[in-house]
Amino acid sequence: MAYSLNDIGLVDRVRNLPGSSYIMALDSGTTSVRAIIVDEYDCIVAQASKPIHTMYPQSGWVEQDPMEILASQIAVMAEVQFKSGIHSDRIAAIGISNQRETCIVWDRDSGQPIYNAIGWQCRRTAPIVDELIAEGYEDMVREKTGLKLDPYFSGTKIKWILDNVSGAREAAEAGELMFGTVDTWLIYNLTGGLVYATDMTNASRTMLYNINTLEWDDELLEMLDIPRSMLPEVRWSSDDFGFVSSEVMTHTPPIAGVAGDQQASFFGHCCFERGDTKNTYGTGCFMLMNTGDEIVRSDNGLISTIGIAEGGKVSYALEGSIFHAGSVIQWLRDKLGIISDARDTAAIARAAAADDECYLVPAFSGLGAPWWDPSARGIITGLTAASDRATLVRAACESMAYQSFDVLRSMEADAGMKLSELSVDGAASRNDFIMQFQADLLGIPVVQTEAVETTALGAAYLAGLAVGFWEDRSELAADHALGERFWPKGDPEDIAHRLSGWHDAVARSRTVIQ
Ligand code: ADP
Repeated sequence: MAYSLNDIGLVDRVRNLPGSSYIMALDSGTTSVRAIIVDEYDCIVAQASKPIHTMYPQSGWVEQDPMEILASQIAVMAEVQFKSGIHSDRIAAIGISNQRETCIVWDRDSGQPIYNAIGWQCRRTAPIVDELIAEGYEDMVREKTGLKLDPYFSGTKIKWILDNVSGAREAAEAGELMFGTVDTWLIYNLTGGLVYATDMTNASRTMLYNINTLEWDDELLEMLDIPRSMLPEVRWSSDDFGFVSSEVMTHTPPIAGVAGDQQASFFGHCCFERGDTKNTYGTGCFMLMNTGDEIVRSDNGLISTIGIAEGGKVSYALEGSIFHAGSVIQWLRDKLGIISDARDTAAIARAAAADDECYLVPAFSGLGAPWWDPSARGIITGLTAASDRATLVRAACESMAYQSFDVLRSMEADAGMKLSELSVDGAASRNDFIMQFQADLLGIPVVQTEAVETTALGAAYLAGLAVGFWEDRSELAADHALGERFWPKGDPEDIAHRLSGWHDAVARSRTVIQ
C-alpha cells in the first residue's frame, strides 16, 4: 500500500481514521532540517523542510548557529502538523536522525552555546591531529574507536573550543559546560533541559567512545584533555529520551528513537543482517556494511563504527565515504554549464556513443577510500575529436558507480564476505543509467528504496519500535517498500575492460601533481 501527500483524498481518509496514530521523525541535516509523519504501513504522509545556513569564517572552517538549527527544527515540527492536520495528540513517538560529528558546547546554567556549532566538514583541528599522530596515538584511537585519527570526528573540535574560547577550560573543569552532537542539543532543548543524552551511533563518532566496551573512555578523554562531566549519557538508539516539553508541543509525545544520519538510513534500509549493505548517492556517497557482532578492522582505509544499537544488541558496520559523487553533476551544471538539470543526465548519458571510452576521476580534493591520496587531482582521460557533452555526462555518471565499486570491493575484502545485493537511496540513486551501470559493474542486483527519505524513515522505525507502534524488525522488513531492482546484464569482458580503463585513469590522477 503506497500513497503520497499529493493524493489529497487518500491523506484525508487516513487523517480521519478514528484513533489512528503516527510517528514523527526529525532529520536534522547539514543543509536543511526536516520533519516527516509516518503511518503504521511505513508510508510518509506529510513532510516539511527548511534550509539552514552554513558559515565559512576562514578557509577550511565550517560553522553553524545552534539556535538556528533548533528554531528551524521546531518550525518544521509545527509546519508538518499544520500541513497534515495530524497534531501532537496523535503522534505516538518522535525519532531523531542528525548530521553526525558536529560539535556544540553550551553553558549548563543558561543553556546558551558558548561558540557556534563546529561542522563535521571543518578542518581547523588538523594541527591538533598532526600533533596526536606525532605523539603515537593513532593505533590506540583506531583500536578503541574504530576511527581514523582525523579532524572529521568531534573530539578535537571540543578540545579546540576549550583551548580557544575565553574562560571555557575553567568553566569545563568546574562542570559548567555541556557538550553534545546535534541529537543531544535537540533532545536537551526539546525536553526543556530534562534529558541530557545521546545514542550509541552518535557517540561512536566522537572519538571519545570505546566501541568495544560501549563506554566513554578515560584514556581518550585524557588524550584530548576533556572532562568527563561535559559528556551526555549514552543510550540505545531505540530508547527513552524523555518527553517533548509542552512549550514545543501541546501534547507531549516521547522521543524514543535517535541515530546519526547514515546509521538511521542503514536502519531505514532494513540492513539488519550481517552482510547487508546500503549506499546513499547524494553530494557524496556513504556506504555501510553490517558486520554483525564483529568489529572488522579495515586494511583499506575504511572505518569501523556502531551500525545499529537496537533491541539490546549492537551490530557493527564498516563504513566508507566518497567525497565527490552527485557534486560532479553539480560541477557539470554550475562550472561547465553543459547541463541545466541533474535529472536530465540519465537520458544524456544514454545518448553517448556506445564505444566511448572516456573516464572522469573527480579527485577534486584528493581521493578517499580505498586510495587515501590527498595529492590526487581530477582528470579526464580518453577524449577524442568525436567526444561531446554526452561523453562527459556519461563519464561523470559512471564515476559515481566506479568509485562505489572500489569501496564496496574493499569492504568485501575486509569483511571476507560477498555482497548479494546493494540497497540504494539518495537523489542520484533515482538516475536509472547510473544504477544499471552499478549493477553491471558489481554483478549483483541494485535495489532502490521506494521512499527517498530513508534517513527519516529509519529514525521513525527506531522510535516506533521503542513504543510498540511496530512489534519488531520483521514487521518493518515485511512492510519495507522497495522501488526498482536493476539486474546485472553487462558483458563481463566489456566490464573488465572498462574497469581497467578506470583504474588506469585513477593511477594517472595520482601523478598529476608530482
Ligand atoms: P545531500 O543529502 O547530500 O544534500 P541529495 O541526496 O539531495 O544530497 O543529492 C543531491 C546531489 O545529487 C546533487 O549533487 C545532485 O547533483 C545529484 N543529483 C540529483 N539528482 C540526480 C540525478 N537524477 N542524477 C545524478 N545526480 C543527481
